[in-house]
Amino acid sequence: MRGEVFIPVSKFKALNAELGKKGEKMFANPRNAAAGSVRQLDPRVTASRPPDFFAYGVGRVDGEEFSAQWEVLEYLRRIGFRVSPLIRRFKNIRDVIRYHDEMKEERDDLDYEIDGIVVKVNSIAQQERLGVISRSPRWALAYKFPAREEFTRVNGIRVQVGRTGALTPVAVLEPVQIAGVTVSRATLHNEDELRRKDVRIGDTVVVERAGDVIPEVVSVIKSRRTGVEKEFWMPDRCPVCGADVLKVGPIVRCIGVSCSAQLKERIKHFASLRALNVEGLGEKVIEQLVDRKMVSDAADLFFLTNSDLMRLERMGDKSAQNILTALEKSKHTTFARLLHALGIRHVGEHTASLLADKFNDMDALRAARHEDLIRIPEIGPEVAKSILLFFRQEETQELLEKLERAGVRYEKKEVEGAVEEERILEGKTFIFTGRISMPREEAKSIVERLGGNVASSVSKKTDYVVAGEDPGSKLEKAEKLGVKVIDEEAFREMVEGV
Ligand SMILES: [Zn+2]
Repeated sequence: MRGEVFIPVSKFKALNAELGKKGEKMFANPRNAAAGSVRQLDPRVTASRPPDFFAYGVGRVDGEEFSAQWEVLEYLRRIGFRVSPLIRRFKNIRDVIRYHDEMKEERDDLDYEIDGIVVKVNSIAQQERLGVISRSPRWALAYKFPAREEFTRVNGIRVQVGRTGALTPVAVLEPVQIAGVTVSRATLHNEDELRRKDVRIGDTVVVERAGDVIPEVVSVIKSRRTGVEKEFWMPDRCPVCGADVLKVGPIVRCIGVSCSAQLKERIKHFASLRALNVEGLGEKVIEQLVDRKMVSDAADLFFLTNSDLMRLERMGDKSAQNILTALEKSKHTTFARLLHALGIRHVGEHTASLLADKFNDMDALRAARHEDLIRIPEIGPEVAKSILLFFRQEETQELLEKLERAGVRYEKKEVEGAVEEERILEGKTFIFTGRISMPREEAKSIVERLGGNVASSVSKKTDYVVAGEDPGSKLEKAEKLGVKVIDEEAFREMVEGV
């Protein structure tokens, strides 16, 4: 069963008052309090807190079949779970929009915080057809309310240097509470934005925070100006390494090849969870490694020794050993992860996996021409140009060679054509049952392209039953007949590269 844990605002206030009385750390907002309470290792602590729960979906239910989201909710209510009393069913999108606007007005009267409504397609058959893309279902969307705004004063403007060398002006604010969170910095994006909004040091500004995104300065209240406000100009040198900056469009970039600010960000990205996932290699460690010139690129991480790491502040033998173990583990990765980790501009996690699907290995990708790249759906000329530029750099060559020397290996993927020709599923009959993340039509066409066929009912002639979430009676029948049952993961492996 799926749902959301929350703490009502009234109970949150009481909890904080109690924590304060005991001299314990208080929570910034109900959301943090709810997350903190659920994460407790000692369930008695969780039990002493006031979390509440609304159920909204099912993972797996034995002996029940649902044809609509609404039935799921009624079922959850019937068996005794709390379901939000604000859930409604609508027949057209106009009514959904009207309900969204109504809730926007009413949200301050609720005893819990909401930042929007969730809209779902009711029919489960239609949900299945719509499927899932990049892990998010196409049949549900978060329809958020406009961001909350507050006024505050700009105490200063600082410049941050990012992974690609971009210089971002950041407003240092008089701390202000926006929707339960203290905000003391807000991005000004770039110099053009800064000029357009005419933000000056000392100005009173409107600051907006939407969900988890970085707060931003929306506008300046010019009527509050007293004449002492100071204009801010972007530096013509990198504030960290002192190299020249180059302005391309609205973006000012540090062109220093050995800029430590860029290097720190690149290495943080390289080691991050969704890239090479080097556990325990935190921000503080990376900053020290760069500042002490112990690494000059990401590959240098793999040549660090225990005694190197022990020279760092607050580093014990055990933590040093843990980092080395994590580094060793991260050497075995996938092509997509390694591509993502390299931090090629415009190549995020999703694009990296598209490229890894199309190209066999780094050499094949390096040999790709502009026209090969833009032939891939979702890859535009801008991205293609950035990939070509990346591989043309001498530093890239050095980095890749060094990674190889360090023993970084990735799993290769098969190229599409090779599998297609083989008709690996020749003569095999498949049955699909339950929810899988790709549309049924797509699964069917994959099977057929590889020479197999898809039937609608299970018989002794069936070779494979692919069972998704909430499989129906077909699964039982397959088990009775002794037909091989596989899950979606196994199916995807079987047809990998298609
Ligand atoms: Zn720099």
